[in-house]
Amino acid sequence: MKILIVEDSRATLLIVSKFVERFGAQPICTEYGEQAITAFHREQPDMVLLDVVLPDIDGFAVARQMRALEKPGAWTPIIFLSGMTSDKDLEKGIAAGGDDYLYKPVSEAVLSAKIRAMQRIIQMRTSLVVLARELDTANQELKRLSASDGLTGIANRRFFDDHLAREWRRARRGSGEIALLMCDVDHFKAFNDTYGHQPGDDCLRQIAQNLSRSMERASDIAARYGGEEFAVILPDTPLAGARIVAEKIRMAVPNLNLAHSGSPYSRITLSIGVAALNPADCAGEPQILIEAADRALYRAKSAGRNTVCYHEPELEH
Ligand code: GH3
Ligand code: MG
Ligand code: MG
Ligand code: MG
Repeated sequence: MKILIVEDSRATLLIVSKFVERFGAQPICTEYGEQAITAFHREQPDMVLLDVVLPDIDGFAVARQMRALEKPGAWTPIIFLSGMTSDKDLEKGIAAGGDDYLYKPVSEAVLSAKIRAMQRIIQMRTSLVVLARELDTANQELKRLSASDGLTGIANRRFFDDHLAREWRRARRGSGEIALLMCDVDHFKAFNDTYGHQPGDDCLRQIAQNLSRSMERASDIAARYGGEEFAVILPDTPLAGARIVAEKIRMAVPNLNLAHSGSPYSRITLSIGVAALNPADCAGEPQILIEAADRALYRAKSAGRNTVCYHEPELEH
């Protein structure tokens, strides 16, 4: 442990540094306030013993500058060691950032006991900092888990709902259209019946990864909407842009070459319904966008599957 001693009386400095050495700590000695601030910055001591009356700036100002130099969340105990013994001075010392205030001359026993007590606080504080860091990591992991789907690892329904609501509000404030792709695996019940539930799960994982990889902008999100349905949110995207993404996804899935004997395409395929709406033109909630994409998906299924259909109000009444 390094202890910075700031004391302009040579005799006192010698005595105090002997006490510190006998305590088992390494003393760093300075006689001036400015020097002390430089040493504090350079040496990063574990504790400071600080005189009040110094030849240049006083100890209160030194303490204030040391506190200002500390990194956010850091703390170095500062103990005043002063010949000024009024209550007012003690009060000023604590107000300036000191943690304790001892009167000179100080005995070895008192100084050692005070250093030991401060050490204990440092240790408790260090374990608290470690604990807080662990808690922070655990919280981040929890947040990640609560937003991701257990089977596929991509965003889950809860995240999808929140993200869509957020983007819907943002778009209403002026960013334009939001596109939504509702994607449903074709004949998936038959796939499970033929190959089993485990291969079914693997298949969902591969489709999810493929969807995730197809997202080009940071704000584009692919989520598992539920069962064998996936949803893709494309903020600031009109129908023409969404069309390109949807076709890319539709074509990529059969290319995964997941054999499906029960499908007319002999492979796993997706049907996709696409809608793009400007929330500023709609009275309601994002549910309107979901329903529009769902109706388009329904038409894609009716049209023979492995197809992309678009929200066209005139076809849907
Ligand atoms: P369609 O082409 O009309 O969409 O037919 P489909 O068979 O895919 O649709 P349906 O809604 O009848 O069946 C969906 C099936 O998806 C039911 C279930 O067996 C399967 N499924 C849903 N969630 C999971 C899952 O988490 N794992 C697996 N392995 N299968 C799932
Ligand atoms: Mg002095
Ligand atoms: Mg379905
Ligand atoms: Mg299906």
